[in-house]
Amino acid sequence: MTCPDRSTCRRPDQTRRGHVAPASQTRVSPTRARPLSPFGRVLRLAQRLACTVATVVACHNVAAAADAPDLGAVSEIAPGVFVHIGRIAQIDADNRGDTANWGFVVGERCVAVIDSGGSVDTGRALLAAVQAQTDKPICALVATHVHPDHTLGLQAFDALQPPPTMHAHKRLPAALAARKSTYETLVRRQLGETAPARIVVPQDLVEGSTQLDLGGRVLTLTAWATAHTDHDLTVYDAKTRTLFAGDLLFVQHIPVVDGRLLGWLKQLPQLQAIDAARVVPGHGPVTDATGWQPQQAYLEALRDGVQAALAAGHNLAATVESLPATPGWQLVEQYHRRNVTSAYAELEWAD
Ligand SMILES: [Zn+2]
Repeated sequence: MTCPDRSTCRRPDQTRRGHVAPASQTRVSPTRARPLSPFGRVLRLAQRLACTVATVVACHNVAAAADAPDLGAVSEIAPGVFVHIGRIAQIDADNRGDTANWGFVVGERCVAVIDSGGSVDTGRALLAAVQAQTDKPICALVATHVHPDHTLGLQAFDALQPPPTMHAHKRLPAALAARKSTYETLVRRQLGETAPARIVVPQDLVEGSTQLDLGGRVLTLTAWATAHTDHDLTVYDAKTRTLFAGDLLFVQHIPVVDGRLLGWLKQLPQLQAIDAARVVPGHGPVTDATGWQPQQAYLEALRDGVQAALAAGHNLAATVESLPATPGWQLVEQYHRRNVTSAYAELEWAD
């Protein structure tokens, strides 16, 4: 970080938030120089040294603040459609669970929230972000799937009155029941032992598709066959042709197979056929129809590589060691071997 203004670590024309302010607000009047006595020169030198030390500390603090996640930052990607892009990382105490995307859609009557980030902190930031944009009530919470980086923020919505309805794929409760204690243990290890780690159970379960009327705009919720997980749900806003894909789409963040590789590949043409002007992935920046291609290439290469290894009689360990990921992804070390293992187990007995 550079620090052009030694007294503030900001440009004179910048406000504390980094916005450029009118020059009249921050312009500093020049002072007239006067000759100094020897004692005065020593004093000024000491002051400058102290100022330099203070500046280094201040710069460090500003740099640390810049590195801290802005949990509630949102962009309005289409009229009434707000999105927060989480970090491409695994949950830890530093990022406070801000590792997945979330968003909300504002209707004439009420607001629907889609996913909530990976901690109660992200949920609180989301709630504040909604309230900063509108005073309309939140009537719906949508969980695209149960993974903790998408659902732990729901804890922050407990106290809302009237309570919003929570929507999820019909198989989410079973998936949650099977993994609840594992997730809670994992998240406490990642965020800290005292972190709240309760995953809220949805009440309104979707089979096939259903619609949410927010007043003046209708969202379509679609429950998919097993792909990223066995309970993926997407949200489509017809008014702006915006698709919230959840983790059926990864951008920059390497895809993670926690359901069925073949099922995911089978459904990609249907997902890509949705008339979407923009697609909000579960991880990574907002994209359009072209955003599906790198993920498809990765999943196809994974399928083809594992099938070739099986045909050659390679065992699981040899396959995991030898099969590279297609280039360009982040978090390869954390997830690619896991994906190969999952694909091997799936394809070993596939027809
Ligand atoms: Zn996921």
